Amino acid sequence: MKKHYVFDFDGTLFDVQSLWECWLDELEACQIDREDARDRGSQLFETGFTPREHAEQMGIEGAELDELIGRFEEYTQAEALTMLYDDVVPFLQEQKADFTVLTFGDHEYQHFKLEAAGLDEHIQDIRIARPERRKHVQLKELCAATDAEVIFIDDNPRELSAALGEDLPITLVRMMRAGSKHGDTHPNDGEHWQTITSLTEIE
Ligand SMILES: [Mg+2]
Repeated sequence: MKKHYVFDFDGTLFDVQSLWECWLDELEACQIDREDARDRGSQLFETGFTPREHAEQMGIEGAELDELIGRFEEYTQAEALTMLYDDVVPFLQEQKADFTVLTFGDHEYQHFKLEAAGLDEHIQDIRIARPERRKHVQLKELCAATDAEVIFIDDNPRELSAALGEDLPITLVRMMRAGSKHGDTHPNDGEHWQTITSLTEIE
């Protein structure tokens, strides 16, 4: 049976924590309190985080804002390849399967990161989840539209649990990368989904 892998992006395929800490360094250099910035940014993650929106909300404006965003985009462009986890491209090349990225965030900004990381060559189907159209809703649509075996891989147990609650014909896999923000064990680990630290471990 053909397989269709549905990947979360940040924290699953892409080491977003490194990028995030660099961004907080940049904001701190603009005299913004790091912890305030961290809190405000976290609130934006689901509704559509972009560095510009975040910086604006932290009170940066005008030429300072444009310079900051320009510099950070250049940095992201230059470093994104190194932020893609090492196992990702080999996995995509080896598998004869369909691939989708299903991610929260701002459409344009998520595409920008994906392209900078070189993933657009391998994955053309990129879907953006929103608070009003969460991942489990989109997974349900995806399952209805394919004959393939759907395998959903995410580092956030909340998203996996929501998919579990839909009782979909789907295999759930939890990614636990070193240093991920979703590092805590979950009661469903090993029970309702396999936990892995690398794509090479998928059964
Ligand atoms: Mg994630």
